[in-house]
Amino acid sequence: MGCRIVLLGMPGAGKGTQADQLAEALGIPHIASGDLFREHLHQGTELGRLAQGYMDRGELVPDEVTIGMIAERIARPDCAEGFILDGFPRTVAQAEALGRLLSQNGTRLDMVALIRVREEVALARLAGRWTCRNCGAVYHTLFNPPRQAGVCDACGGELYQRSDETEEAHRRRLKVYQEQTAPLVEYYRRIGLLVEIDGEQSIDDVQADLRATVETACG
Ligand code: ADP
Ligand code: AMP
Repeated sequence: MGCRIVLLGMPGAGKGTQADQLAEALGIPHIASGDLFREHLHQGTELGRLAQGYMDRGELVPDEVTIGMIAERIARPDCAEGFILDGFPRTVAQAEALGRLLSQNGTRLDMVALIRVREEVALARLAGRWTCRNCGAVYHTLFNPPRQAGVCDACGGELYQRSDETEEAHRRRLKVYQEQTAPLVEYYRRIGLLVEIDGEQSIDDVQADLRATVETACG
């Protein structure tokens, strides 16, 4: 099933967790802008060095750089039948650029799903998040623990806490979300693409709601 999807929601809403499962079910790539930046960082590229300061402070990397990175990624052949964007767009300028990129290729988004949670829920989730160094899968010490502490269920990789997982950075990121990303909710509602999902349910129930909306939007 071809489908071009954006997952919207504050940091900690569960976008990455849901995108991973949905991508596997639909057979399309999960593209997380944060993961792409972390890969650049790990590989020591110029883009990685540029992004690091912004990421550690919990601020957004400038639009021009971010848009260029995503444009290159969604132009690859594995995106021909669709993709799930997670963490992009995060500003109105990024959303407009994405719309232009897709229309240049004669395509468009099929659906934007807002995973809605309260800030206190997002903060509790971020506080216990562990990420696999190898495959990027995420876990939570209380809500979604791995079978063996410190080891990824999916690939056996080592789990770590991201360098931007401090309470101060979490609060900054939630503020940045409210100021710069929340306007996208109205932006996508106006153009008729927005669906809202209750993100405070269990991981499985959120996934079930998401699958039902995908059925409707992408057929
Ligand atoms: P985002 O990509 O939106 O920042 P993540 O998918 O990384 O969010 O999830 C943040 C944290 O919350 C992770 O530790 C994850 O295991 C946990 N989590 C995700 N969805 C749920 C849920 N529905 N209930 C409880 N914990 C969840
Ligand atoms: P995430 O993994 O989505 O939580 O993103 C981690 C960090 O990467 C963010 O705090 C930003 O510094 C940066 N980042 C990720 N996506 C974007 C984006 N679309 N625009 C700007 N910065 C981004």
